[in-house]
Amino acid sequence: MIIVLKQGTPSEVVDEITQIVKNWSFEPHISVGSAHVVLGLIGDTSVVSESQCYGLSPFVEKVMRVEKRFKRASREFHPEPTTVWVRGIPVGADHPVVVVAGPCSVESADMIVETALAVKSAGAQFLRGGAFKPRTSPYEFQGHGESALDLLAEAREASGLAIVTEVMDSLDIIAVAQVADVLQVGARNMQNYSLLKKLGQVDKPILLKRGLSATVNEWLLAAEYILAAGNPNVILCERGIRSFDQQYTRNVLDLAVVPVLRTLTHLPIMVDPAHGTGKSQFVRSMSLAAIAAGTDALMIEVHPTPAKALSDGAQSLTPEQFRELMADVAQVAHLFDRGPQPLVAV
Ligand code: PEP
Ligand code: MN
Repeated sequence: MIIVLKQGTPSEVVDEITQIVKNWSFEPHISVGSAHVVLGLIGDTSVVSESQCYGLSPFVEKVMRVEKRFKRASREFHPEPTTVWVRGIPVGADHPVVVVAGPCSVESADMIVETALAVKSAGAQFLRGGAFKPRTSPYEFQGHGESALDLLAEAREASGLAIVTEVMDSLDIIAVAQVADVLQVGARNMQNYSLLKKLGQVDKPILLKRGLSATVNEWLLAAEYILAAGNPNVILCERGIRSFDQQYTRNVLDLAVVPVLRTLTHLPIMVDPAHGTGKSQFVRSMSLAAIAAGTDALMIEVHPTPAKALSDGAQSLTPEQFRELMADVAQVAHLFDRGPQPLVAV
């Protein structure tokens, strides 16, 4: 159930209604927009009638039932797009497209600093790099772990770029949060609810990748776990889903989900064409298409020598290819009123 208050409702009235709703045993979710205040009621709202809600105050404009199972993530509860701020950079529908770039895994100090400087000079705002890697085979490179976090901190120092890195295990949250500006939850952990609940208590934004076979509702309910546990800063990342034909691409990149999400949620949206296609030759076209579809951000894998990468080399761009891509990204973003991208001062 949501209660929309009239424009100019005094804050004392908002407080009063909030208190009554709490006395009714609902958890109120308040969203203050430029025109209206929206009060979302969380709990079993079948016990309260619309007319009871209208009777709360003459300032009540509209009362609506929300049938969706996700509430805090929904546009009904929060009509205006959310901006997630990362080191002074805004991510969201009202802002220029931002780009996260870097290697799949942090391999050495030299390679991560070199890549950071290269992607920074091409216009990326965030550096990505895995310290803890979720690999399909236990015999494949698992990431350098905590020591790689120190290298990411070094790369941030050298480049000024904000750091995005994955947390796979609840036990590593404190260490990862010490270095990361954004904590990534990988596709394989999207439904690790105990991890999501703990990330709800972290004071850093969470990048929630879509699970390999997750429906949109399952994905938004996973985001709801983080929001419900107290962290309002969640970015959704489409990275391709499983399908019947994966002979030519690693996954099926669901670009239609971008405008779909826009109707359902206020949370910022990112698209990852590298994991989505698995092949570097398709990254450019899918990046540009993602901007046209309305994404707020892109995630691109970049490696100094993709052929020698310890993970995901086939889908990684060289720094030179990334520079060329960024020129196209700037043009297309401009075309859709989502440029120019702000440059970060080092
Ligand atoms: C990654 O970003 O390197 C990664 C492992 O992504 P995903 O969880 O989408 O497979
Ligand atoms: Mn990868």
